[in-house]
Amino acid sequence: MVINFAAGPAKLPEEVLQEVQKNLINCNGSGISVMEMSHRSSNYAKIHDAAIADLRKLLCIPNNYKVLFMQGGGTGQFAAVAMNLIGRTGTADYVITGSWSAKAAEEAAQYGKVNAVLPKFDKYTNVPRQSEWKLDPNASYVYFCDNETVEGVEFDFIPDVGDVPLVCDMSSNFLSRDFLVSRYSLIFAGAQKNIGPAGVTIIIVNERLIGHHLKETPSVLNFQLMDKHNSLLNTPPTFGIYVMGLVLQWIKRNGGVYGMSEKAKAKSKLIYNIINESNGFFYCPVEPRVRSRMNVPFRIGSAAGNDALEKEFLAEAEAEGMIQLKGHRSVGGIRASLYNAVTLDETQQLAKLMQAFYEKNK
Ligand code: PMP
Repeated sequence: MVINFAAGPAKLPEEVLQEVQKNLINCNGSGISVMEMSHRSSNYAKIHDAAIADLRKLLCIPNNYKVLFMQGGGTGQFAAVAMNLIGRTGTADYVITGSWSAKAAEEAAQYGKVNAVLPKFDKYTNVPRQSEWKLDPNASYVYFCDNETVEGVEFDFIPDVGDVPLVCDMSSNFLSRDFLVSRYSLIFAGAQKNIGPAGVTIIIVNERLIGHHLKETPSVLNFQLMDKHNSLLNTPPTFGIYVMGLVLQWIKRNGGVYGMSEKAKAKSKLIYNIINESNGFFYCPVEPRVRSRMNVPFRIGSAAGNDALEKEFLAEAEAEGMIQLKGHRSVGGIRASLYNAVTLDETQQLAKLMQAFYEKNK
C-alpha cells in the first residue's frame, strides 16, 4: 500500500479514481471516453456546466462573480492577473510571504509597477499583521498567496483592503476551508493539489474587474473573452475538468467545504503536535499562528536539519509506503502535504512513524 504525501500534483480521492477508471472508455453512456469527445458536444457541455454549477454551490458564489476554467496553471495566472487588472492605475501591491507570491510579483513587474507591501525577508516563516503593511491607495489590486506551498505558511486572516480589489492565489488550500467569496475580487487556483489533475486552473472573478485588460493580453489569458465564451474560447482541458467535476461531487458527499476544513484541522494538528512535543528533534520554522494545514514542513535533528537523519527518515517512510515526503529543493528537509484526499488514517500512520523515529533517535 502506498500513502501519497505529495505537494502537487497530489493524491486524488480513490473513489474518484475508480469512477474515472469505470467510465474511461464509455463516459456517461456516450460510448466514448471524455478524452475523445468534442468540447462542443452536448455530452461535454453537461460535464462542463455541472462542474461550474457544483463549484458555485460549494462556495455559494454570488451571481456577480464569474467562474472561468483556464490553462497555463498558477504561473499562467501570475501573468493573467497582471495583464487583466494592472492597467487601471499601472501599479499593484504584492504581499510577498513565500516563493509563489515572490514569483507572481516578478511576473507582474513585466506589465506594470509592483509595490512590495512588506520588507524583503531572508526566510519566509510568517505573515506580518496587516497593520505593518505599506499599502498603496493607488494600487489596481492587492495580491497575496493564501497558502505558500513551499514554506508551509498559510494566512490566518483575510486582508481588509477597502475598495482596492483583493486578489488571492488559493492554489494549495482551495476548498479546504470556508470563506466568503465576496471578500475577494479574484481568486485563482491550479487544480493539481486539492481538486483534480494538473492542466486546469479555476478563476473566480468579480464581473466588475472584467474588461480592463492590457491591449497585448493573449486571448487565452483574457478574462473578458474567456467569460464571453464560458471558458470554451478554445479547447479546454476537458479530461481535467471532468475529473475535477467528480472531485467536487466527492467533496459535496463528504461534508462540503466545512467537512474538508474540519478534517484538515484534525490532520495537521496530529503532525504539529508531534513536532511541538519533540523538544526540538522535529523543527518547524513557521510561526505557529500561520502554520499551514496543507503543507507541513519540518527538519529533523536540529533547526538546520541533520542530513543523515532526514535521509534515514525518508527511507523508513518509503519502506512503509509513505512517499513524496521530501521537502522542496529550495528549503530541504521534509514536507508532508495533507490535501483533502489524504485521510485521517493515513495521517495517523505518518504520525506513528514520526513518534517511533523520535523515540529511537532522540
Ligand atoms: N501558486 C501556488 C501556491 C503553488 O503551489 C503553485 C505550484 N506548486 C503555483 C502557484 C504554480 O502553479 P503551476 O505549476 O501550475 O504554474
